Amino acid sequence: MPHTANTALIDDLVVANHILVNEGVLDGFGHISVRHDIDPGRFLIARSMAPGLVTAGDIVVCDLDGAVHDARGRRSYVERFIHSEIYRARADVMAVVHSHSPAVIPFGVTGARLRPICHMSGFLGASTPVFEIRHSAGESTDLLISNQALGRALADSLGTSNVALLRGHGNVVVGFSIQQVVFRAIYTENNARLQSEAMRLGEVNFLTPGEAQATSDMIDEHLDRPWQVWKKRALAQGF
Ligand code: MN
Repeated sequence: MPHTANTALIDDLVVANHILVNEGVLDGFGHISVRHDIDPGRFLIARSMAPGLVTAGDIVVCDLDGAVHDARGRRSYVERFIHSEIYRARADVMAVVHSHSPAVIPFGVTGARLRPICHMSGFLGASTPVFEIRHSAGESTDLLISNQALGRALADSLGTSNVALLRGHGNVVVGFSIQQVVFRAIYTENNARLQSEAMRLGEVNFLTPGEAQATSDMIDEHLDRPWQVWKKRALAQGF
């Protein structure tokens, strides 16, 4: 293979799979990818398997058409088009998480928009777009982003945001590194849980767009701190 990714990047991708399971974002489903460090037209992602069991030997290379390049003929996830089409549309995106993290689901199926409730989730910005698959593929789909056209429609819905919800399905989170996208995926779930609690108490005072930007910029200077804790916690759990 002419383009071999840095082993440290692969190691971080494996750890990220385990952290996201251990922190309740991924379960038997969902996936994380990182853009290839040598070839920006490709990305690294696990073969189709439970993320909690991923090892370095399970990482495959995928291109922006969704084709998997693997000498052993292994396949990746049906929903790899979420990743390929976002990498194609967004040159700034270096890592993508797709999950079904539970507290976020209600915000995709009601009029309540997911918005930043505290300084850890300023990356949510002014509001979070919701992708409605019925607009692209009608009323009888399995809700999965299983081809390029659906991936493109989802990327359009994401636009320049950091998070998009998939109605009745889950969410997608993007970032400039594995560490940042893991942080954002975990705090998207946290924000959803807190926002649901706050909405039961009364009218919510959300961060302003200026506060959202400033807090997000500040957090980006300290992404290694939570990463090290989550990594240690995952290792302690036997991952
Ligand atoms: Mn899914």
